[in-house]
Amino acid sequence: MHTIGHLIDGKRLDGTSGRTSPVFNPATGEQTAELALASIDEVDAAVASAQAAFEGWGQVSVARRIKLMHTFRNLVVDNAEEVGRLLTAEHGKVLSDSAGEVARCIENIEFACGLADHLKGSLNESASTGVDVYTVRRPLGVVAGITPFNFPVMVPLWMAPNAIACGNTFVLKPSERDPSAPMFLAELFQEAGFPPGVFNVVNGDKVAVDRLLEHPDVKAASFVGSTPIARYVYTTGTAHGKRIQALGGAKNHMVVLPDADIDLAADSAVSAAYGSAGERCMAISVVAAVGDVADPLVDAIRVRMEKLVIGDGTDPASEMGPLITREARDRVAGYVGGAADAGAAVVVDGREARFDNEGHFIGVSLLDHVTTQMEAYKDEIFGPVLCVVRCDTYAEAVQLIADNPWGNGAAIFTRDGGAARQFQQDADAGMLGINVPIPVPVGYHSFGGWKDSLFGDITMYGPEGINFYTRPKVITSRWPDPAGSSVDLGFPTNQ
Ligand code: NAD
Repeated sequence: MHTIGHLIDGKRLDGTSGRTSPVFNPATGEQTAELALASIDEVDAAVASAQAAFEGWGQVSVARRIKLMHTFRNLVVDNAEEVGRLLTAEHGKVLSDSAGEVARCIENIEFACGLADHLKGSLNESASTGVDVYTVRRPLGVVAGITPFNFPVMVPLWMAPNAIACGNTFVLKPSERDPSAPMFLAELFQEAGFPPGVFNVVNGDKVAVDRLLEHPDVKAASFVGSTPIARYVYTTGTAHGKRIQALGGAKNHMVVLPDADIDLAADSAVSAAYGSAGERCMAISVVAAVGDVADPLVDAIRVRMEKLVIGDGTDPASEMGPLITREARDRVAGYVGGAADAGAAVVVDGREARFDNEGHFIGVSLLDHVTTQMEAYKDEIFGPVLCVVRCDTYAEAVQLIADNPWGNGAAIFTRDGGAARQFQQDADAGMLGINVPIPVPVGYHSFGGWKDSLFGDITMYGPEGINFYTRPKVITSRWPDPAGSSVDLGFPTNQ
């Protein structure tokens, strides 16, 4: 059994804390590695390396920073298959989902490759006589990233390329569950030629997170994970004077109006609810079926669910893999049972699916006639369970979204342009889809929800990411009238 350590100052290091955490292959249930959990001293070493690297990196020309980012981008493209393999081995998602994750990574690196355009600043010439005023954006210093298990390379790459291209240095604390792919990324950063200390990885748990949030040399932290931890990271980090963006959990609603294309809506619901086993913060977990669309829609979703192939993510035939842990699987099963007891109709019961090994598998579930009082509606299940809430009107469906504590994404399915436009204004969420179930913004927009899905006021990646990783400096300069200059500029003298 191999042990996974840290990558600090450009070198892979074994852990020294004596504390470890097991890493599993979710498709077999077998432990495949032991992860070293960082001590405070190890976090301090990573921050010291990043701080030392910042002294030089913050001064490196934009041209050089971008050139290295291009090299890194090409290495990720060349190694896309290996990254995908590592993702599937420890997360469990099917290879096509892993390939999709890598594609999103590349998109974010490519945005950072174009960063020169966003770092141009602004200038007012002759704001007053002989006075120019200009704003430049400066990096912050050492910034930290704390990331969840469900996108172990994409989420770090929502953060690090922009942070580093802006001139910061980075310390990543990945999820304990699937650390191999982020460690591989760290090696690609070194291979690309970034100086040691520009990108570091400390593996760890709360001890490492708390130290990053308290460390005086860490200037900002980006967090993505569950809502309780996002809230904790935001309050702890800001209490220590840091700039924090903390993205939390979600409960995303898909409103289906009576005029919707049922086939499109059913295909979308199935891929958005069960893709990646529902372990996506933008997964659809509630269908708000308006009026008489409910019966045909539930039927169309059920028919499609029966055809879904669930199995080991490395099998190209598999469309859905296992859940990340045994505990996650049992928790999901508990929500299905709880909803049945509370009066929901279990149209498809994922607990009945049978698998012939010890992997963390569960089948897909569809719950109809769900009410807002049920635990399955109130909690983020983060598994392959889709709840259908029947609404009499569009207004009722929109109110459902407004009353929900989360506000990450929401979608509407309709053929009516006026209704879609109205939804755009009414829906109380940060990212909306119109006939698009998972409206994850492209890399040149920014990602972030509302309400309990985001703590802080700057969203992630794209232009907002640049704002987060830089601070403005405004320079007001005055030069004498050219006629009075000490150098002869060829102007007539004032004599
Ligand atoms: P998590 O909150 O358990 O863990 C996220 C990170 O926080 C990990 O690095 C973990 O080590 C650390 N952590 C865990 N407990 C901690 C504690 N007590 N103190 C300090 N740090 C702690 O989340 P997860 O289970 O890895 O990921 C799934 C969650 O992430 C879901 O809720 C999902 O919706 C959310 N998520 C949100 C987005 C988004 O963009 N809003 C994207 C992906 C995932």
